Amino acid sequence: MRRFMTALLAVTLLGPAALAPADSRIKVVASIPDLADMARHIGGDLVDVSSIATGVENIHAVPMKPSFATVLNRADVLLLLGLEAEHAFLPALIEASKNPRILRDAPGYIDCSVAVDVLEVPTRIDRALGDQHPMGNPHYNLDPVSMKAAAGAIADGLARNFPEHEAEFKKNLDAYLRELDTAIARWEKEAAPLRGKKLVSYHPDLIYFAERFGMEPFGTIEIRAGVPPTPGHIADLEESMRKNKVEFVVRETYYPAGLAETVAQVTGAKLVELPGMVGGVPEAKDYISFVDYNLQTMLKAAKGS
Ligand SMILES: [Zn+2]
Repeated sequence: MRRFMTALLAVTLLGPAALAPADSRIKVVASIPDLADMARHIGGDLVDVSSIATGVENIHAVPMKPSFATVLNRADVLLLLGLEAEHAFLPALIEASKNPRILRDAPGYIDCSVAVDVLEVPTRIDRALGDQHPMGNPHYNLDPVSMKAAAGAIADGLARNFPEHEAEFKKNLDAYLRELDTAIARWEKEAAPLRGKKLVSYHPDLIYFAERFGMEPFGTIEIRAGVPPTPGHIADLEESMRKNKVEFVVRETYYPAGLAETVAQVTGAKLVELPGMVGGVPEAKDYISFVDYNLQTMLKAAKGS
């Protein structure tokens, strides 16, 4: 027992970094798998990438595990969506990580929202309202064009920290953006049947997706981001959905099914279940297959109408 305690003390004093195997690759930790996938494309063989969320979670409520602080302690850089999307878990984990490289305002803190055209920026910030989107809507990862800006921020951030590899990051970024552009051109063509169609979602996380593919976000089952529905709100929503012929209710896979099902049933709308991140369903194994899954699932539902 005593030997064990001594060993434990040594680990604590040295910190996890001292125990890490010799590996010269740049350690990248992303908050979500979407950013991790992009970092793998941009960093190539130079990076060792991990993600805190697996993709099935609600971004506003990713459960914290002590192991995340250990992973963050070793990180050279941290990638995040920003706009307070990760407010529920990331600030506390950064503090627990005791890693000065990834503190907010340190060079290793790479906020991928910096070049994104943010939607729904509020005119005032008031957390008392319980709003989970105090800096504007952070769910831009559902829009591949916004994520081109995020990919650029990842390449810039990596180059800022490791300028000796800047040319390689740039070359890999260009190749990835070409791949993404090809997919975006195909998606925009395929999305034609969705244009002008209205959707209600559980949480206001579909607006970038809707805007990209010509759909109209009509309202949410939540009263506002993070504010749970009341019977009065649902009754009003159902009435205006019927009047305005809303065709789709999107239930994000990390929100409860029952109420979304009822709202769809009562109003005659189609229920569509979509993941909010890469890894949210088995088919969404990387960023391109994630956007593809969401679009093809909407198209299938539209076809059935
Ligand atoms: Zn949200």
